Amino acid sequence: MVASGRVAYLARRGKDYGVHTGDVRIDMQRVRQRKREIVDSFRNGSKRRLEKTANLDLIFGEASFTGPKSVSVRLKDGAQRTLSADRIFINAGARPSVPNVEGLKDVPFLDSTSIMELESVPEHLLVVGGGYVGLEFGQLFRRLGSRVTIVQSAAQLLLREDADVAEEVRAILKQDGIEVLLNARTERVVKSGGQIQLTARVDKEPLIVQGSHLLVATGRTPNTDGLNVSAAGIATDKRGFIKVNGKLETNVEGIYALGDIKAGRRSHIFRTTISAFCART
Ligand SMILES: Cc1cc2nc3c(=O)[nH]c(=O)nc-3n(C[C@H](O)[C@H](O)[C@H](O)COP(=O)(O)OP(=O)(O)OC[C@H]3O[C@@H](n4cnc5c(N)ncnc54)[C@H](O)[C@@H]3O)c2cc1C
Repeated sequence: MVASGRVAYLARRGKDYGVHTGDVRIDMQRVRQRKREIVDSFRNGSKRRLEKTANLDLIFGEASFTGPKSVSVRLKDGAQRTLSADRIFINAGARPSVPNVEGLKDVPFLDSTSIMELESVPEHLLVVGGGYVGLEFGQLFRRLGSRVTIVQSAAQLLLREDADVAEEVRAILKQDGIEVLLNARTERVVKSGGQIQLTARVDKEPLIVQGSHLLVATGRTPNTDGLNVSAAGIATDKRGFIKVNGKLETNVEGIYALGDIKAGRRSHIFRTTISAFCART
C-alpha cells in the first residue's frame, strides 16, 4: 500500500521531472487487492515451508497456559488439545490498544488492521497518535488523496526518536500537506452529521477538528492476557509485556519470549520507518 501511495505521489509530481501525466485517480479496491495478494503469497510461502520442515507440527488454534510447562490449545473446530514441553518459546505478539477516550465506543473507528481493508479513500482522515503507525498511515492516505490531520498528545512526533529527527519528519509531512497538531490530547469524539468530531485539549484550550474517518494509533497491547501467562508464573511489566533477560529468558526456567510480546525497546521498527519518510526525491 505504501508503494501504491508512492506511485500516486510521483505521478502527481511528474511535471517536476518533465513527465506529463493525466489526472491521478486511485482505485482503492485494486490497491487493497494487490496488498492482499502480496500478504497471501508471503503467508502461504511461509506456511508451506513450515509444513515441509521435519519434526515440526503446525497447529492452528488459541493457546493458553495451564501451568509452567503446559498449554491448552482451542482448535479451529472447537476441539481442545493439551501440549507440554520442557522449553516453551512465546511469540504471540501484540494488538492495537484502545485508549480511554470519551465517546470512542460509540464512534466507528479504524485501527492499523482495519484501515488496510478500506474500499475507498477517506475524504478527511483524523489520526490519533503520532507514533510510527499513525505517521505511516497518515502519509500513505495523504498520498492517496485524503486530507489528513494527525493529533499527537506529546510535544514531538515519534517519541522514542531524537527531537531533531522527529522535527525533520514533521517538516516532511507538512510539505506533503499533512496537518500535525502537537501537545494535543484527544479528550472526546462524537459522530455528528456523518462526520466525526474530535475535541483535543491544546495548552488547556479545547480544539475541535472534524473528519470523515478516524484512525486510532495509540500503541500496542501485548497478547499476554489471552495466553494466560500468569498460570505459568511468568512475570510481566505493568503494561503486560513479558520481562526477559539478555538471552530472552523469562523468570520461569525453560520459557523464553521473543518479538513484540517481550518488554524492551523495538528500535528496528523506527529505523525502517524513518527511511520510508525520508524517501522524498
Ligand atoms: C502498521 C504496522 C507497521 C509496521 N511496520 C514495520 C516496519 O516497517 N518494520 C518493522 O520491522 N516492523 C514493523 N511493524 C512491527 C512488526 O509488524 C512487528 O514487530 C512484528 O510483526 C512482531 O512479530 P511477532 O512475531 O512478535 O508478533 P506478530 O507478528 O503479531 O505475530 C504473533 C502471532 O501470534 C498469534 N497469537 C496471539 N495470541 C495467541 C494465542 N493465545 N495462541 C496462539 N497464537 C496467538 C497472533 O495471531 C499472531 O499470528 C509494523 C507493525 C504495524 C502494526
